[in-house]
Amino acid sequence: MIHDVSVHQQYQLAKKDELKILIVGAGIAGLTAAQMLRKQGNNPVLIERNKSNKSSGYMLALMPMVDNAISELKVTETYLNKSVSINNFNFYSHQGSLLRKNSIHELMSKYGTYRGISRGRLIEVLTDDGCMLTYDTKVSDLHQKIIKYLFLLKDMKIYLILI
Ligand SMILES: Cc1cc2nc3c(=O)[nH]c(=O)nc-3n(C[C@H](O)[C@H](O)[C@H](O)COP(=O)(O)OP(=O)(O)OC[C@H]3O[C@@H](n4cnc5c(N)ncnc54)[C@H](O)[C@@H]3O)c2cc1C
Repeated sequence: MIHDVSVHQQYQLAKKDELKILIVGAGIAGLTAAQMLRKQGNNPVLIERNKSNKSSGYMLALMPMVDNAISELKVTETYLNKSVSINNFNFYSHQGSLLRKNSIHELMSKYGTYRGISRGRLIEVLTDDGCMLTYDTKVSDLHQKIIKYLFLLKDMKIYLILI
């Protein structure tokens, strides 16, 4: 579940981290990165320019390559419950009659799972443990200093120190 909090709330947690991390964009990549870093004990600040993530979005077919990330996030059971198995590719004529049915299960199952899930449901899976996020927020300016980057988020300043 996503908890829409202020940047200030997120930054209070990030303050004690040696490396302060800002993740811009709470799509599948941003959410996965944030949740993985949190599992490892970090407190990245996650921002998203949209006002919410309510639309369920389009259907995704996820190859076995995603299994490691899902397992690392410890959300495998939720993922399997919220997705469906993809077993065949069916080819239809323009009039809707089935022309050919190819099994994909045999090939994919050698490597892991091949699942269908909507983007919205995948976001629910990735945020199953709870996920802090600040909507309606963008980076408005970026200054490079000698050893620091300064991000200005509305009225908040976040420094990322380069190592
Ligand atoms: C119709 C369609 C079908 C697809 N089917 C599949 C499929 O079957 N299998 C598959 O693996 N992939 C599929 N993909 C691709 C997959 O959806 C994308 O690769 C994946 O969602 C990309 O995730 P992302 O987090 O990188 O980007 P996005 O999902 O685009 O997320 C980026 C986020 O960053 C936010 N953002 C951008 N700029 C800023 C900013 N300056 N400040 C703050 N926030 C910002 C955006 O609002 C957005 O929420 C499909 C894509 C589409 C469009």
